[in-house]
Amino acid sequence: MKLINYSSFFSNDISLYMSSSTLFHSESKKNRINKIQKLLKLDQKRFITPDQIHSDKICFVEHDSMLSPECDSVIFHANSGLIGTISIADCVPCCIYDSANEMISLVHSGWKGTLKNIVRKTVLKMIMLGSKKEDLKIFLGPSIRWCCYQVDETLSKKFNRDSVRVKSQKYFIDLIKQITFDLKEISIPDKNLFIQSDCTYENSNYHSFRRDGNLSGRMTLIAFKN
Ligand SMILES: [Zn+2]
Repeated sequence: MKLINYSSFFSNDISLYMSSSTLFHSESKKNRINKIQKLLKLDQKRFITPDQIHSDKICFVEHDSMLSPECDSVIFHANSGLIGTISIADCVPCCIYDSANEMISLVHSGWKGTLKNIVRKTVLKMIMLGSKKEDLKIFLGPSIRWCCYQVDETLSKKFNRDSVRVKSQKYFIDLIKQITFDLKEISIPDKNLFIQSDCTYENSNYHSFRRDGNLSGRMTLIAFKN
């Protein structure tokens, strides 16, 4: 397993890693968390590992009794000692951090979650919990980009026009563009967004469900305050 360090996106105020591996078979979430725990020397009992369901469900995790919520977005206090995780393979992994209100969230936004505005809804929930828009820094990680994300015309029509590209009568969707459009609509400043623009389908360092199908593993995005 390899851990890619993205902490500099948040000026190292929090730790943000993404695990990847060259294993081209799927591995259980438990095994992945075990390896991450050993590599980062963290307390395994405090990992938040949601059961993801391609929804717009957001869970504010406040207690150790809530570590496996059924949802696609988790919010927790940075100083709680909890370690947030989210699993992805092509879907957009997102981490939001507010250093003023000391809150972290991790979001899984595939095409279903993106159409349900899960990233924007998480931002709004953080604001309900006391964050100010200008304090929220948002990281959007490696995901399948429009170059490799062909969909049928019916699905493409559900997205904003600017998030769809048409080439030789084929339809491609741009999830990052849709998410940033949704965030602009609620006046999140551009300077608060950090986009890691690698395409998971094209880069063998990443798992890609569309490329490898059932053989595809999953990556884990991990965030915590040191
Ligand atoms: Zn691509």
